[in-house]
Amino acid sequence: MLNPVTENHAIQYSASSTMPQLKQYWGYESFLPLQDQAVEAILHRRDSLVILPTGSGKSLCYQLPVLMMPGTAIVVSPLVSLMKDQVDTLNGMGIPAGILNSAMAERERQEAIRKMRAGEYKLFYVAPEGLAKESFIELLHQCELAYFVIDEAHCISQWGHDFRSAYRELGKLRELFPGVGIHAFTATATPPVRDDIIQALHLQDCAPLVGHFDRPNLLYRVQYRTNLMKQLGEVLDRYPDEGGIIYCISRKDVDELTTSLKAKGYQALPYHAGLTADARQRHQDAFMNEQADIIVATIAFGMGIDRSNIRYVIHTGMPKAIENYQQEAGRAGRDRLDAECVLLYSGVDVVKWRSIMGEPKTDYDRLALSKLFEMSDYCQQSICRHRFLVEYFGQGFEKTNCQHCDYCLGEYETLEDSMTVARKILSCVARVNERFGGHHVSQVLHGASTEKIRQFQHDQLSTYGLLKEYSQRDIQLWIDQLVYLNFLVREPQYGSLQFTSLGKQLLKGEGEISLAKPVKPQKEKKKARQLGIADETPFDPNLFEALRKLRRSIAQEKRVPPYIIFSDVTLKEIARHKPTSLADFEGIKGIGQAKLKELCPQFLAVVLEFP
Ligand code: ADP
Repeated sequence: MLNPVTENHAIQYSASSTMPQLKQYWGYESFLPLQDQAVEAILHRRDSLVILPTGSGKSLCYQLPVLMMPGTAIVVSPLVSLMKDQVDTLNGMGIPAGILNSAMAERERQEAIRKMRAGEYKLFYVAPEGLAKESFIELLHQCELAYFVIDEAHCISQWGHDFRSAYRELGKLRELFPGVGIHAFTATATPPVRDDIIQALHLQDCAPLVGHFDRPNLLYRVQYRTNLMKQLGEVLDRYPDEGGIIYCISRKDVDELTTSLKAKGYQALPYHAGLTADARQRHQDAFMNEQADIIVATIAFGMGIDRSNIRYVIHTGMPKAIENYQQEAGRAGRDRLDAECVLLYSGVDVVKWRSIMGEPKTDYDRLALSKLFEMSDYCQQSICRHRFLVEYFGQGFEKTNCQHCDYCLGEYETLEDSMTVARKILSCVARVNERFGGHHVSQVLHGASTEKIRQFQHDQLSTYGLLKEYSQRDIQLWIDQLVYLNFLVREPQYGSLQFTSLGKQLLKGEGEISLAKPVKPQKEKKKARQLGIADETPFDPNLFEALRKLRRSIAQEKRVPPYIIFSDVTLKEIARHKPTSLADFEGIKGIGQAKLKELCPQFLAVVLEFP
């Protein structure tokens, strides 16, 4: 019987010593940010917690180091579909990997256990429920273990949005296997979740590695929902034959929208918890296997969606918190190529969520409500979307123009008389003695006739109706901007608008301000077309299509999703460089030795035949 790896076996490799393996198996020449540090922590047998956003290459961080160590790495992952994809990917790269799950036939299970015991796998995937079983723990005691990986580690925390009770059992690993490193990975972890993970897994001497939350390849747009079908059509028509998700708030919306899209000739499939398990599985498989491109779903369509070439995620209504938005929109562009995230919102979304949430009674309810308001701020404020999201998660954002959101792309226009409008708003705030909120102030400025205005005789103020040529919605948008730009603050208890020192100066005519005009849908349409997202260097789109077709047929034959064969990045590189020999293929990103031998001859034939 082999003992688990202990300190005595420790090998002090640096990440750079893994470069030959990086090239041989993955076909990459260099690491992405933080990958080297994450690899090194594992090689040095230090526990680690790695927090990197989706698409940052987390899997490589824990798959590579085991190639330099004796024994098997045990990977705990929450979903069978995710595990299966990873195992197929690894085997396709020539790295022996196995899996054990409850869906397997008894013969398959026995075979996997035999191979595991014989040390034939470098990586072994198991669900947390499987790992907790005594028989499995016994099996592990008979194997040489390199380290444990806890993927989607936020599932261990009650604070995380995907809490899984079986993850709690993983806390026993430290005691059961002292000396075997434990490495936790997640894309989402606020400081309380982070602390929970460290405590629950008993991670020792663990320096969390936190990446930057920005996803620079995602193009964010927010639009006021005016004509849903028309607005959806504009996005969908930018991405014919590409994969995308449309999120709706309710099941009814999913069904109705799917029907309307089909009537317009779009091949869309619905997904929500009200469908039979069989229908859900079929629709998900069709999407993953690229037999269907558009999925219309509630948030039930989520975890386990590993398709890397999702080019757009559209929300037809506002999610209830930025955390949800970031996770759902974040499913786009996992392959690091450009992708678009469009949020269509309207004021009624906040009302809808508030009625679902009910009156806040506990601290938790109040927190949820404040998150809802922050989500609404994201929709209403005219500022860089990347900056907003990154700052929301507590990180700084240095770029002054991200070039990847509606605001920075100039899809908002500057209001010519910004200074005058801003001063009119500020003087109205002064006239109502800083005791009223944005909604009321905008009504006074618009010249509305409400009970409250009459009650406080605000129709007698000199600022009453001072901005009557603008809609109340526009005035509110500018008030939001004044708050965001720190000319005004909202008093926390009642939300009344109050001056900052910057605001007082501006009222006196000192300083500068530029306010953004709200989006005009017709203009948005024109710009969006002009700005159609493109990669930096051109490639032959027809060759790309031919390569995709071959990829699809190989994937079907092997019964794996196409992105496991090659990513879109690799296919675009082939379409760009048009390699004319197998040796040329070696220089292409994402092609390791195993795939070079097994798959590239067929891809070479397509390139050579291509006119
Ligand atoms: P995550 O698990 O963080 O969402 P993935 O492991 O799915 O990220 O990786 C995202 C994408 O980045 C994949 O297409 C992967 O092949 C690619 N990738 C990973 N590491 C590298 C690297 N060193 N160089 C180039 N691309 C990489």
